[in-house]
Parts: sequence; C-alpha cells; structure tokens
Amino acid sequence: MIRLRNVTKMYSNSVVVLRDLNLDIDTGEALFVVGDSGSGKSTFLKLITKEEEVTSGSIEVFGNDVVKMKKKDIPYYRRTMGIVFQDFRIIENMTVFQNVELAMRICRSSTSYIKKRVPYVLSLFSIEDKAYRYPCELSGGEKQRVGLARAIVNNPKLIIADEPTGNVDPSTSYEIIDLLSQINKRGTTVVVVTHDVSVMDKFLSFRVIEIGNHGIQRDSAKLVS
Ligand code: ADP
Ligand code: MG
Repeated sequence: MIRLRNVTKMYSNSVVVLRDLNLDIDTGEALFVVGDSGSGKSTFLKLITKEEEVTSGSIEVFGNDVVKMKKKDIPYYRRTMGIVFQDFRIIENMTVFQNVELAMRICRSSTSYIKKRVPYVLSLFSIEDKAYRYPCELSGGEKQRVGLARAIVNNPKLIIADEPTGNVDPSTSYEIIDLLSQINKRGTTVVVVTHDVSVMDKFLSFRVIEIGNHGIQRDSAKLVS
C-alpha cells in the first residue's frame, strides 16, 4: 500500500503546494486524482516517484520509506513502478519494439525473455503489428499504447500516469483509461491524474480524490450517502 502522513511540500520559492496531507491507497486500488491546474497533482505524483522531496512528513510505498531512501536506491525503486506521461516520452529513433525492449534491458532481462515478452505485451495493447514502426508513424493513441506497454512490461506493482489522455482525442481517451482499468483488474495499483471528467464518469470502480486548497478536498472513498 501507499501511505502519506502529514506530507507538506513547498518549492524553493517557499510556495506551499501541499500541506499536512494524509492519504492511504490500498494495494490493488485504482485512483483518479483530479483538481484545478496548478493545484499540485503532478507534485503529488512526483513525491511518490521521488522526483521531488517532501518538505516534511512521511511517504511509504509498498514497504519502502520514500523520504529516507538513499539516492543510490532511487533507480531501483523507480523500476518497481511503471510511469506513463502525457507527452508519451517514447524514443523517436527507436522502433516500438526497441522502446519496450529498452525498459526490459534497464531491468537486465535476458534476450530470450525479451523476445517472448515484448510481442506479448504489444499484443495486450493491440499494437503487435506496429512492432517495427517508428513513433513518427503512429497516432497519438498508438503512441500512448506504447507508453502503456513500456510501463507494464516489467510487471510493476504500481502504475503512475500523469494526464495520460492529455494529448489524445476523446474516444482514444476512453480506450487509454479502459486499458489502465484492465491493468488494474489484473492486480496492479493504478494512480491516474486526469482532467477528463466525461471519461472518469464511465469508470466507477476508480476511487476519486480531488486536490485543492493544498490538500484533499474530496475523496470518493469517504463519501457518506
Ligand atoms: P498540477 O499538476 O495540479 O497542475 P503542479 O504540481 O505541477 O500542479 O504544480 C503545483 C504548484 O507548484 C504550481 O503553483 C506550480 O507553479 C508549482 N511548481 C511546480 N513545480 C515547481 C518547481 N519545480 N518549482 C517551483 N514551483 C513549482
Ligand atoms: Mg500536472
């Protein structure tokens, strides 16, 4: 599970983004994080991935003490999660296959396993026929499928996605969230920042938290009806 306790984050310009935030995310949960632009959604994700340091408070992610983690352990820590970006961040001069392969090489997978695993993961996202294409030959939705394939190829416990549908059309948005939902149903914890209310409303199994006013403004898990 993921546990944030009394987390405060200020940037060096002493602007408080998050103040005294407490949150538990259970293993296997699917979470949408919403909130106005500038409210701190990306910051929240970066504290979990340790791209940013907390100003105070504690963060535990699957037994790892993220705040006390040593610098040399951060790359290994990040390899336990799959990260999906709004702008895809796939490598332009590598084929689809090579992009996904690279993520496996970084984790020191064997060539024989890569040869089996990459086509399998591409087929999960229906892009096996694009394996030898370059990113410039793909649509936005296909690029994001590559991003998803790369994120799950090493069997992460956690997927973090920061506005993964920010650069695709509405019907593709639905498909991307649906794929994340399927990944979640196979047991992976999924945390997705999104603006996409119309899509969000179609995925009722996701818990929704809203970040605003430096904290959690709303949490669907805590709604009393
Ligand atoms: P969101 O993802 O919800 O749009 P962010 O987490 O990116 O919001 O930003 C939250 C606030 O922190 C904003 O006011 C933003 O300007 C500020 N901020 C983000 N990153 C930095 C940084 N590296 N240095 C200083 N301020 C930052
Ligand atoms: Mg953001």
